Amino acid sequence: MWSFKAWRQRRILANNPIAAATWAKVRQQLPILDGLSASDEQRLRDRAVLFLHAKHLTALPGVTLGDADRLHLAVLAELPVLQLSDLDWYQGFHEIVLYPDDFRSPQQHRDASGVVHEWAGEHSGEAWLQGPVILAWPGVLHSGQWDGYNLVIHELAHKLDMLNGSANGLPPLHANMRQSDWAQAMQAAFEHLNAQLDRHPHAEPPIDAYAGENPAEFFAVCSEYFFSAPDLLSAAYPQVYAQLRLFYRQDPLARQQQLATAGRVKT
Ligand SMILES: [Zn+2]
Repeated sequence: MWSFKAWRQRRILANNPIAAATWAKVRQQLPILDGLSASDEQRLRDRAVLFLHAKHLTALPGVTLGDADRLHLAVLAELPVLQLSDLDWYQGFHEIVLYPDDFRSPQQHRDASGVVHEWAGEHSGEAWLQGPVILAWPGVLHSGQWDGYNLVIHELAHKLDMLNGSANGLPPLHANMRQSDWAQAMQAAFEHLNAQLDRHPHAEPPIDAYAGENPAEFFAVCSEYFFSAPDLLSAAYPQVYAQLRLFYRQDPLARQQQLATAGRVKT
């Protein structure tokens, strides 16, 4: 069947070619793409171009974006959804705002007695329900290594989570997944992490302690680790890794292990 969408996408790709030198620079900045098949890498490239066409990047004073910078961001944004094509997973927002550095933003928290506490917190990123994604540019540039940190994947995981309403750690699951399996794996790991932090508040847990804040942060932090330190996540919480593997339909651990065998990444 003739598809207008496919025709339009081909036109956008034809009109926005990536210079070979630009792609080479981006690839060099993003070791977490190492080990992707040639066809996956090509698809990621195409989808990054389509992402940049669909989203507006607003660079605040102090951020200057070249072609490679825009592509660096877009490739990281598209990596989590590379094998998900049955839905426009990044629907409902059009803008990414880039701050020159971490920013302060009003925070609210309602405690058990119903009192709302507000304070100004220092942030590297935010994802607004029905609104933009905000990223501190240095955090974007630091994302892309095999080190458990990925600001772009973290904030966009919040967007995936918000697809079925509020951010609660439960994105729309696929037909071959069970919500009870998901809830069981996430809940057990979340409680394990918090019990560990309760016992030793200054302990270094296997994944970033920020994951213990609430289920939404747990999903976002685990998504970061899934793509950038899958060895740590799967060792600490194998059931969480298994659920994320079903959700993202990727297996970064296998890729990381192949690279380690080839001596291209330390694990
Ligand atoms: Zn978060």
